[in-house]
Amino acid sequence: MCCKLLRIEALQKPAHKWCGNCDIGKGCRIYDSRPEECRAFACSYLVNSSLGPEWRPDRSRLMLTSELQTGRLVAYVDPQRPDAWRQDPFHASLRKWSREFLAQGRQVLVDIARRTIVIFPDHTVDLGILTDDDRILTFQEGGRMQAIKLHKDDPRAKPAAAR
Ligand code: SF4
Repeated sequence: MCCKLLRIEALQKPAHKWCGNCDIGKGCRIYDSRPEECRAFACSYLVNSSLGPEWRPDRSRLMLTSELQTGRLVAYVDPQRPDAWRQDPFHASLRKWSREFLAQGRQVLVDIARRTIVIFPDHTVDLGILTDDDRILTFQEGGRMQAIKLHKDDPRAKPAAAR
């Protein structure tokens, strides 16, 4: 899934399109000489042993990553299976993690070809398509968590929410 969902700068591979070096279902044809970006990346399924086999990206159609810069958990969804995240145990787990992450001021997001959905423990907020100039602000209002999309130059946009 990472060879499909992610943009690889070194190869000028756009996001959401299979890499030309990928032998789908088998692996990378240039594994020994793959770019540094590919070598450095590991999705949560590879590094978090608590994720069961149901989370395997080629089965779940979800690729979980923890962003180092923002601390956010992002579930990238295969656009060919845009509702994959709504199935349990995935949806229930995202809500559970949201509860834990909120206490730390962190966000849990679903990304479907840049359509971004903020996951809260008891509801979701669909922000639509985000560009590189957009930021996400989450806050509490009337006892309920809310999320809005802001331009990066908006003074309310915090660096920690950079996308
Ligand atoms: S070069 Fe290999 S590892 Fe990197 S995206 Fe392409 S197929 Fe995947």
